[in-house]
Amino acid sequence: MLSAKHINKQYEGKTVLNDISVDFPDGKTTVILGPSGSGKSTLLRSLDMLVRPESGTVSFPDLSIDYSRPISKKDSFDLRRKTSMVFQNWNLFPNLTVIDNITTAPITVLKRSKEDAQTLAKSLIKEVGLAGLEDRYPSQLSGGQQQRISICRALAMNPEYILLDEPTSALDPELETQVLRILEKLCQQGQSMVIVTHNMEFARLVSDKIVFIEDGNKIYDGSTKEFFGNPTPRTKEFLSGIS
Ligand code: ATP
Ligand code: MG
Repeated sequence: MLSAKHINKQYEGKTVLNDISVDFPDGKTTVILGPSGSGKSTLLRSLDMLVRPESGTVSFPDLSIDYSRPISKKDSFDLRRKTSMVFQNWNLFPNLTVIDNITTAPITVLKRSKEDAQTLAKSLIKEVGLAGLEDRYPSQLSGGQQQRISICRALAMNPEYILLDEPTSALDPELETQVLRILEKLCQQGQSMVIVTHNMEFARLVSDKIVFIEDGNKIYDGSTKEFFGNPTPRTKEFLSGIS
């Protein structure tokens, strides 16, 4: 299990995450919800050191990162191996083909042979319904196709957890559905995921657990069923779209 404990983060003296502790269970999908500016992306990025909180720990059974201390190169490498981030604005390398986008990190970081990396990449591309597009460049793909390739790129690193920050927010509804289907499938296959999303239907459908944060404070941490089925006055207000 991935656990974040007592995470504190400030920007310019303003507290953005206030003593946040959350467990992200293995093989499950945890969705982080909250109003704009509440600290969702900051929390997600704290899980793989893209953001460095002032204090708090992020731990797996065999690795613990304590942000209040200097972090060794080995620990940061190990953390990055366990997690893989898919960004809101797909960030494929524009000068590399689809297949090279997916195989570069496995070859350079994981020292996979080119052949093995390509075999895996091809099967992932097929899995997301894009077989035949291996040699295209990102600019020759639609937004939804690019986003699906970004997900393949994350999966090719065989991470324990995939972290996704609003994976569909830049897509129109039809493309959004394509990407959501892939994530649903991963979820059914038991891939551990942490997803920040504004899409309530999707959150309700795929998540096992919801974390709701507001102004850097954790307001809710529990089952999806309870969150949607038995909301508190505050979460009810949020769900009704007031904020
Ligand atoms: P959204 O739903 O709009 O993406 P969010 O919940 O992901 O919002 P964060 O991006 O985590 O919010 O930001 C939380 C707070 O931290 C906001 O007030 C934001 O302005 C501030 N913040 C985020 N990044 C920085 C930064 N690099 N420097 C200063 N302030 C920042
Ligand atoms: Mg955000």
